[in-house]
Amino acid sequence: MPAAPTDIDAVRRWSRGRPLVTHALEGAAGGYDELGMVAHTVLRYHAHLLTDFERKAIVAFDARWRIALASDPEVMHHQLRIAGVFDTPGLGAVMSKGYEAFCRDIAARVLLEQATALVLNRCPRCDRIVRTPRARQCLWCFHDWH
Ligand SMILES: [Zn+2]
Repeated sequence: MPAAPTDIDAVRRWSRGRPLVTHALEGAAGGYDELGMVAHTVLRYHAHLLTDFERKAIVAFDARWRIALASDPEVMHHQLRIAGVFDTPGLGAVMSKGYEAFCRDIAARVLLEQATALVLNRCPRCDRIVRTPRARQCLWCFHDWH
């Protein structure tokens, strides 16, 4: 079994296509979600701003997700437990709140503590955060500034 991902690249790979990202980008259905978009931007493009604890928690959420999808959940859980994925103190409280709430907490913390390190690409017309740091089209109002 490969080691649990603990490096930044693994966290980045992991954050792709996760529910929060999908939700945050589902403009028409869910409405614009500022904190969701900050979380999306942090997880996908600013993973270096995560604390060690946040990285470990994301790995644990990933492990929980893998267990849920495993053909033999008990074996998968056993392997991940042996790998120490769930050993970080404080993890239980975070995981009981759920992944999405945890991502919002990360976004709020980064905004409070590391706002100057965070590059939020905003639409010049509606001021909402756009999909990627280099995007020149707005998903929300469809403005294009190429
Ligand atoms: Zn816009």
